[in-house]
This record gives sequence, structure tokens and C-alpha cells, in this order.
Amino acid sequence: MDDVKPTKEHKTLLEYVRANAGYRPNIAEMLAENKGPCPDCWGRGRVVAPYERACPIEGYKMADRIACPKCNGDGRIPKKEWVESYKKYNAAFKERVSQWQERETRRRELIESVGYDIVEEIINLWR
Ligand SMILES: [Zn+2]
Repeated sequence: MDDVKPTKEHKTLLEYVRANAGYRPNIAEMLAENKGPCPDCWGRGRVVAPYERACPIEGYKMADRIACPKCNGDGRIPKKEWVESYKKYNAAFKERVSQWQERETRRRELIESVGYDIVEEIINLWR
């Protein structure tokens, strides 16, 4: 009964980037400049140095930072990388809808084959 048709969470590239890149107030500006926030450093340009280990109390608060290898410290990556990622998200969504549609079609076939009265009786016996 919980198999509802999938709904698309992120309807635009901007929504998708905002949801997946953390809160960055200038994402729309970045996209307008054919850039996007770096997903490895959350747009900060710096990451924890690979030799650092988390302090049990302070975590990585005092850890050394290095320039992010993915964006070379810029905090931004080419917009096309986000576009590609969004395309994959859209393809995966389409696949989920397609799989749901197959199940829905099969459910309707089964209901039609035994008749709705029988299905209703079965459901009521479970209540
Ligand atoms: Zn980065």
C-alpha cells in the first residue's frame, strides 16, 4: 500500500546543487558564471590534510588544512560537472518511475483478472 509513484525532489539544476552542495548563498551566481561549488570541500577551497587524525574531543577543529585537490583551492568546479551529475540524478529518477509503472501495471492486471470485488473483500479481511 506504500508503493506510491516516485516524485522528483529536485526539479531544477539549482535545486539539485543547493541540496547536494551544502548551504552556499552564491550558488545561483556560480552557475551563471558556468561554475559550481566544489563537492569535496563544500566550496571552501580547503580540506583536512590527509595525515590528520580526528581528536577524540575536538574532532578536526584544530587539524591542518590543505588546498582542496579537486578544485585546487578555488572552491568551485566547472558547472558541467554538476550538469553531468544532475543528468545521472534525472536518469535514476526516470528509472524509478519506470519500475514503479511496471509494478502498477501488474497490480492493475491482477486486480482486473480477479475483479475488484474480490480484491476489496481480501483487503477488508485484512483490516
Ligand atoms: Zn574543492
